[in-house]
Amino acid sequence: MVRTRFAPSPTGYLHIGGVRTALFNWLFARRHGGQFLLRIDDTDAERNVESALAPILHGFKWLGLDWDEGPEVGGPYEPYYQSKRLPQYQAAVDKLLAAGLAYRDYATTEEIQAERETAQAEKRPFLYSRRWMAETSQQSADFESEGRQSVVRLKMPREGTLVLDDLVRGRVEFEWAREQDHVIQRADGTCLYHLASVVDDYDFKITHVIRAEEHLSNTPRQVFIAQSLGYELPQYAHLPYVAEPGSKNKLSKRKLDKYLKNRDFALVNEHGMAIAQQLGLATSADTFNPVIVDFYEQVGYLPQAIINYLVLLGWSLDDKTEFMDLAMLVENFSLERVTKAPASFDPKKLWAFQDHYMQALPIKQRVATMLGYLQRAGLVPKPTPCEVGPKLTRIIEAAGDRLKVFGDILAYADFFFQDEISYDEKAFEKHLSKPESRALLAKFRDALAKVEPYDVPNLEKLLHDFVASEGIKTGDIIHAVRVATTGKPVGPGLYDCLEILGKETCLKRIDAALAKAVD
Ligand code: GLU
Repeated sequence: MVRTRFAPSPTGYLHIGGVRTALFNWLFARRHGGQFLLRIDDTDAERNVESALAPILHGFKWLGLDWDEGPEVGGPYEPYYQSKRLPQYQAAVDKLLAAGLAYRDYATTEEIQAERETAQAEKRPFLYSRRWMAETSQQSADFESEGRQSVVRLKMPREGTLVLDDLVRGRVEFEWAREQDHVIQRADGTCLYHLASVVDDYDFKITHVIRAEEHLSNTPRQVFIAQSLGYELPQYAHLPYVAEPGSKNKLSKRKLDKYLKNRDFALVNEHGMAIAQQLGLATSADTFNPVIVDFYEQVGYLPQAIINYLVLLGWSLDDKTEFMDLAMLVENFSLERVTKAPASFDPKKLWAFQDHYMQALPIKQRVATMLGYLQRAGLVPKPTPCEVGPKLTRIIEAAGDRLKVFGDILAYADFFFQDEISYDEKAFEKHLSKPESRALLAKFRDALAKVEPYDVPNLEKLLHDFVASEGIKTGDIIHAVRVATTGKPVGPGLYDCLEILGKETCLKRIDAALAKAVD
């Protein structure tokens, strides 16, 4: 039975690279009819774990990545929180001590540092002399009488090689002599992550440890712990990083300023910020930026787009298939096709996936979700009058593929729902300030009042006839009409706008624009 896990620390946000790791774990478990667990690595957590975990769990739910055991759902090996498993870790430390595979060490930080510096000066790799190692209670008592405190260190092998078959990286070898006697328990009694992780993976019966490449170097000490405790080893698969735009370095939310120098990244960020502002959301880069999954949910991306894009960061089905839904991924996912090289996160490419899935989404779903955005931005009231539904459907149909994310509806359609529109000052000045443009618009207004039925074909004909009879160019009138009725220089097709707004509103808005122009 395959059992995989994702082990987030409660940081308060879900990192896009973390989701990719989680996704591979999830797919691998589902592919093999196994189980996927969430374990919470909260031994170092200083803040409220539940509230720092909530956005992470929310992100999983939004993406449709369910977990079989872990927070909220429980499971046979509860609790799945490291902070609640300290007795298990203590028992493992005791066992290692008893077997002589770990020892109490009474060296001070300064003494270790001095040894390190000597090694450096002599140009040899540092290896602790074990001078303050206590292996008997008498030795411990002697050191303690000097007022020393102890940590527990692993008594690592100092010769030989560890050979591991990593499911992504292939055969990897580590010289034991390059490993330190790593600390597994601090002087204050708290255990280090490496010990906790190994004990958890064993207790939770994890068969495959699929995680980011940065943990490869931690693997020898974890293997040593596992073997010393008599555990059977899980299979390891170390995934390449999700890298920064245009580099091989790991993507990090702390380097946002650097990424914003990338034009595509900056555009995606700016676009998201604009939508967040219309929704009145907090936009601190700490919780809202394109490295964090929540950004995409708030802005109105589709989970399918995120999943499909992320799976291709380090995995492929073949050389050509791009669009795959979750069911297809479950059917085809394999660790053999995971690459060793990091793949750069490219928000523009994600945007292209989003575009694809948005256009494929049935209109009903687009309407329902975009209605929610309009409500949240205060553009339509709640409860919503029943005429809004058909009107919004018309708007979205008229928009075609111009609405890429749900939040785009806000800037695109606000004027349809406002009682009073605001004007783009520059456009107003350009198209409505001259007396001759106003005279033309006034004339057009009277012609518009007579159009019946007031629909796209008749509006099109009206404009055409108007241009011909006045002997003007189309451009001499349509911009003025657009600015007067929508407030904007660009937007949805003009005839669609006029029809959806309705005759009465259009006439009122033209009158208001003409009145303003005279002021
Ligand atoms: N909490 C660790 C991390 O976020 C998990 C490492 C592991 O998967 O073993 O990096």
